[in-house]
Amino acid sequence: MNDFLNSGMQWTDKLSVGIDEIDADHKVMFQLFHEAYLLSQTNPDAGQLCCFAVELIDYAEAHFRREEAIMSASAYPFCKNHFAIHEQLLKQARQQCVLVTSGQQTVVDFVIFLRNWLCDHILGTDQRMAAYVEGHELAIEEALQEVEPLALPEYTHIYLVDDDENYVELMQAMTEAANLKSIAYTSGDEFLSASITEDDLVVLDLNMPGKDGIEVMRELADKNVRPTFILVSGFDERVLHSAKQLAEAKHLVVAEILSKPIDTEVFIEVLIRVYIECKLARTKKEIKQNHAIKIAPDGISVDELRQALQQHEFIIYVQPQVNFSNRQVTGVEVLVRWQHPDRGLVFPDQFIPLAEEHQLMSELTDAVILEAIKAYQQFKVADISITVAINLSAQNINDLELPEKLGALLTSHGIRPEAFMLELTESAVLSDTSAALDILNRLRMKGFSLSIDDFGTGESSLIKLYQSPFSELKIDQHFVMRIANDKDADAIVRICILLAKELKMQTVAEGIETQVIWDKLKALGCDVAQGYFIAKPMPVDGFVEWFHSWEMVGSKGI
Ligand code: C2E
Ligand code: CA
Ligand code: CA
Repeated sequence: MNDFLNSGMQWTDKLSVGIDEIDADHKVMFQLFHEAYLLSQTNPDAGQLCCFAVELIDYAEAHFRREEAIMSASAYPFCKNHFAIHEQLLKQARQQCVLVTSGQQTVVDFVIFLRNWLCDHILGTDQRMAAYVEGHELAIEEALQEVEPLALPEYTHIYLVDDDENYVELMQAMTEAANLKSIAYTSGDEFLSASITEDDLVVLDLNMPGKDGIEVMRELADKNVRPTFILVSGFDERVLHSAKQLAEAKHLVVAEILSKPIDTEVFIEVLIRVYIECKLARTKKEIKQNHAIKIAPDGISVDELRQALQQHEFIIYVQPQVNFSNRQVTGVEVLVRWQHPDRGLVFPDQFIPLAEEHQLMSELTDAVILEAIKAYQQFKVADISITVAINLSAQNINDLELPEKLGALLTSHGIRPEAFMLELTESAVLSDTSAALDILNRLRMKGFSLSIDDFGTGESSLIKLYQSPFSELKIDQHFVMRIANDKDADAIVRICILLAKELKMQTVAEGIETQVIWDKLKALGCDVAQGYFIAKPMPVDGFVEWFHSWEMVGSKGI
C-alpha cells in the first residue's frame, strides 16, 4: 500500500496533456486522491466518506465541463466520443460512491478505481487533444470563461511559522515528504497578515523575536480566527504544556506539541494525522450544516417532552462494547434518542437536562428500559448473548423501590438481572442526600451489575467509591480521547485502571476513536473497549447485522 501512496497518487510529467489548464486540474485531482487515501487510514464514518467521495466526483464533473469546453473550442475531432466517455465515468463513479457509503466498497478501492481510470483516460484519450489546440488559444480562453468556474474543494492550508530560516526549510521539506503543500513565514506579524481560516493548520514556533507564538495565538483568538495548531518550541515540555493550557482557555485547538529538535518521522506522522483531522472536522461541519434544520434543538418545551413520552417517540440506539483481549462483543450501551416528527433525531444532551429539571427521568427511564428489554429479546432470537447497559440518572437513584420494580420487570420477561448493567455517574452516586447506597446495594443483591460512568470527572470521593458496590469503572472519554497526546490524561487513565484492579472492578474505556488509543489502552490492561473506532451507536436492527459482520471480519481488523 505504501507503493501506492508514494508513487501512484502523484501526478507526473508523463501524465501531461500539453494543455496547462487541463494539467492544473489533473494535479488537483491527484492531490484529492492522495487526501482520500490518507483519510481512508483513519477509520472515518459513512457521513465523512460520503462528503469526500462526493467532493471528488463534483470536482471531476466540473473538470470535465472545462475540458469539454476546450475540446469544443479547438479543432479536436473526437468530441462526441470523448464527452460520452466522461458521462460513463461519472455514472460509474457515482455507483461506486454508493457502494462506499453503504460499506460495500473501501475508500481505498474507490480511489484506486478513479485514479486508474483517470490515468488510462489521460494516456489513452486526453493526450490526443494537444495536437488540435494550436491556433485556437483565444477561442479556448473565451470558452473557459463561459463554463462555471471550477468548484475547487476548500483546502486546509498548512502554515509553517518559525523565525529560524533553517528550521522553516526543514519543515517545508518534511511537509513535501508527506506529499502536502505548505506556506512558510519567518515572522509572526507577516503570518498574521495571511487570510487564515478555522479550517487551516498552523505549525507554530513559540519562541520568536518580535511577536512570539503565544501572542500570535492570542491575536488570532481575539479576531475570532481559530485554526488548529501544532506547537513547536525549544523550551522544555512543561512550557509547551502550559502554552497548550493557555490556548485551551482561549478555545484554540492545539492538536500536538513538539519539542525541538524535531524528529523527522514524528513530524511527518503528526502532520499527516492532524491535517486529516482538520479535513475531517471540516466535513463534519458540512454534514452538520446540511442537517442544521434537523438537529436544531432550540425551543424544546417541557410540554413537547411530555407529549413525546405519551406518543412513544423515544427510541434507543446501542453502541457495542468489545473485550480488548479476545475482541469478542461483550455488551452494548443503550443510548436514548428522540425520534421527533419534525426535528428528526434529537440527541440526549438536548432533552435530558430538561427531563431532569421537570422530574421526568423516571418516566423516560421506564421507556428506555422497555425498549432495552425488547432489544435484549431480539438479540436472544439472533443467538447473540451479551449484556445490556442502561444509563440511570440521579433521579432514578432516589426511588427506594427501584431494585424491586426493576427486578420484577425483568423477571416477568424471563430475563436475569445479571444481563443488565446499570451505569451511574459519580455525581449521581456520591450525593449525600440520596439513599444511593441503600438502593445500590439492593440492586447488586438482586444480581444487577453496576458501573460507575464518566469516572474522573465528578467530585470523586475514593472512600465512597470503595464503599459502593460497583462492578465496573468506566473511564471518562475526555481522558481516553486525549491519552495519545496528553501526558496528564495518560496518567489519569493509568491510575483509573490501577484503582479498578485494586477494587476488583472491570474497566471500560469509552471514546476510543483510533487504533493508537486502542493499542495504548490494551497495553495498560483495560478490559473493555467502546467508541467510534469499534462502532458508533446504531439502531437495534443494525446492531444484529453489525454483530455478525464483526464476528466474521471486523474483529480481526484490530
Ligand atoms: P454517556 O453515558 O457518557 O454515553 C456515551 C456518549 O458518548 C454517547 O453519546 C455516545 O454516542 C458517545 N460516544 C461513544 N463513543 C464515542 C467516541 O468514540 N467518540 C465520541 N466523540 N463520542 C462517543 P450520546 O448518545 O449523545 O449520549 C450522551 C449522554 O446522554 C450519555 O453520555 C448519557 O449521559 C446520556 N444518556 C443517553 N441515554 C440515556 C438514558 O437512557 N438515560 C440517561 N439517564 N441518560 C442517557
Ligand atoms: Ca453511559
Ligand atoms: Ca460516559
